[in-house]
Amino acid sequence: MRKKIVAGNWKMNKNFQDAEDLMFEIVDELTEKGAGETEVIVCTPAVYLEMSSDIAAENGFMVGAQNLSQWESGAYTGEISAAMLHSMGITHSIVGHSERRTYFGETDKIISAKVDLALKYSITPIYCCGEVLAERQAEKHFDVVRSQVSEALFHLGKEAITEVVIAYEPVWAIGTGVTASSAQAQEMHAFIRSLLTEKYGADVSAEISILYGGSCNAKNAAELFANPDVDGGLIGGASLIAADFVSIVNSFS
Ligand code: PEP
Repeated sequence: MRKKIVAGNWKMNKNFQDAEDLMFEIVDELTEKGAGETEVIVCTPAVYLEMSSDIAAENGFMVGAQNLSQWESGAYTGEISAAMLHSMGITHSIVGHSERRTYFGETDKIISAKVDLALKYSITPIYCCGEVLAERQAEKHFDVVRSQVSEALFHLGKEAITEVVIAYEPVWAIGTGVTASSAQAQEMHAFIRSLLTEKYGADVSAEISILYGGSCNAKNAAELFANPDVDGGLIGGASLIAADFVSIVNSFS
């Protein structure tokens, strides 16, 4: 169902004590400022999921994983399955982040298998797509995103696709301090929604949340979120500062 969502991606940051402190700082900020109608999800490193989900559950927000295995179970040393996450009460997972595509060789085929397993175990996949700088400069960004979205998601039926959250994250904007302009974000989000409409119809497409990610911060979030097809954000660096993260949560007009 389409919602306003702000999800934090802590990536591989923080030792245990700092992570716990940050969770409590987020609780304090949310208690003070509220979250309005916005769904708040914090994607912490896997080893902190138990600690962070306990704190979040008591305070009205959610915790997600940053990744899950493409395999269901078995001899895959070091992997964490969708079933394991589900058994710990984890409800969301980032899937197909560009850092996983770049550093771990994740293809759309692998990511598609992860989406399926997430859905099988009632975990909402936050599916990431987005072009690299050279692709945008070559004006191939729409083709790239069309291919990513269709390869990884378009085998899903109408019901399943409404359980997916899509995050458009231009790779050139991730962790660089260079944000997509509000117009660039809206243009791509509207394009993604048009792909969903073409495949599933307008009613289904209108039900899917599309988040923006890439150097979104407390200063630029309001302008990005004011766009009709931008339903919130996937926030990396700025999610490590509780006050900034909760300010972004409250950036909807
Ligand atoms: C991300 O990693 O998903 C991200 C959007 O990072 P940042 O906000 O730091 O650009």
